[in-house]
Amino acid sequence: MRDTAAAAIGKGLIALSRSLGAEERGLALLGEGNTSADCGDGTFFVKASGSSLASLDEDGISRVRLTPILALLEGEAIGLDAIERELLAARVDPSHKKPSVETFFHAACLTDGGARWVAHTHSTALNQIVCSRLGAQPFLRHVFPDAIVVCGKVPAVVPYLDPGFALAQAIQAELRRYRGAHGQPPKLVLLENHGSIALGQSAREALSIALMAEKWATVLQGTYALGGPRYLPETEVDRIDGRSDEHYRRRALSHEESGASAGRSEPAGADG
Ligand SMILES: [Zn+2]
Repeated sequence: MRDTAAAAIGKGLIALSRSLGAEERGLALLGEGNTSADCGDGTFFVKASGSSLASLDEDGISRVRLTPILALLEGEAIGLDAIERELLAARVDPSHKKPSVETFFHAACLTDGGARWVAHTHSTALNQIVCSRLGAQPFLRHVFPDAIVVCGKVPAVVPYLDPGFALAQAIQAELRRYRGAHGQPPKLVLLENHGSIALGQSAREALSIALMAEKWATVLQGTYALGGPRYLPETEVDRIDGRSDEHYRRRALSHEESGASAGRSEPAGADG
């Protein structure tokens, strides 16, 4: 890939990250969360270790080769020293900082997850549910149409594991199971006791999924205060999932050429 094209993707990732990290959104604080974007040439940008989404700049992203990361994921569990060494060795440019330890699950999301842009956040509202006794279960049915359109009919779910290599392998296994069961990758992955991952075809779509998941969680919480969710009938969910005008809205979200357009001024949720 020409460096100018890669540079545009890097800029887009910084814009997406800052948008996700804006404090008032409650999606990520301090060093929480991370993001990645596929360069389309066997490399991807990912947030560097120790940087913050809200204030991310060019120093805070690293460009990494996909192949060595995927090869490690297919193998046995590796220790912390080896993880550090391999992350440093996978950098395209040795002047870049060490990639986030979550680089492994980003590689899985950009391949088995079918995504081009990945947004991992620790949303407060969403965590209030996935950290509860109910875990991800309240998200397995739907309460309003826009969550179906933006976040997909069914989220993938991964039980709690210590963040790092083992979690990345579990996410990869769930993405593969999901594709086998549903014939397509998910748009939203719920990580119990941890947060979520939005899988977008554009930066704008990744942001929209993260924001809609946050809204969905807030709505669900409200329903529990008033006797519990009144779920839509599955036939209605299927009808919305299959509607041609909703497909149009999905395409508009996912096909927009993203780059730096992930600005906060356009949260780009569904419009109906
Ligand atoms: Zn996390």
